[in-house]
Amino acid sequence: MTVGVLALQGDVREHAAALADLGETVRPVLRPDDLSGLRGLVLPGGESTTLSLLLESSGLFEPLGEALRRGLPVFGTCAGMILLADRVLDGRADQRRFGVIDLTIRRNGYGRQVASFECDVEVAGLGADPLHAVFIRAPVVEESGPGVEVLATLPGPAGQPDHRRPVVCRQGPVLVTAFHPELTGDRRLHQFFVEMTKEERR
Ligand code: GLN
Repeated sequence: MTVGVLALQGDVREHAAALADLGETVRPVLRPDDLSGLRGLVLPGGESTTLSLLLESSGLFEPLGEALRRGLPVFGTCAGMILLADRVLDGRADQRRFGVIDLTIRRNGYGRQVASFECDVEVAGLGADPLHAVFIRAPVVEESGPGVEVLATLPGPAGQPDHRRPVVCRQGPVLVTAFHPELTGDRRLHQFFVEMTKEERR
């Protein structure tokens, strides 16, 4: 069985390499036919507005949405997270999303001055060693619903350090990160997702 990587835009090669390192067979997903028989799918970062348009023009939006609603395990990073969220702030009016995880996301929410930064985050379930995380014009999770497991957070903005913001979340078969785990050699999050794809579907 194969794990797909949406290959319309963004860090496709890096995600494919991470999955291949873990021994997975990887398929780039460009057309609706590419979805058949997948055990899981990665939605890479890039630009969520562009990805939304490309999902429409490729004819993938509807069949992929259908697969996600049926419980296809999915791992969305950065723009991929935006595409999966229920609610998006500061998006383009015509930007579409799949709405399969109960999050409110603000695009480019870390603001211009800290548009891109790196830091270490502790992720629940991945052991004691923190994970090095690369944030690039990253989205901010403003709200997470009761069904969402928050697996990692960052301190809040200046003056509100206690207002911590989720950066890794899971709801059932949906895993999301605000950062780019494919850009470091640490494969623990991809491994975590691969394990999710092997879980019994409800
Ligand atoms: N800012 C981008 C967006 O809104 C996401 C950036 C990224 O994926 N690195 O889609």
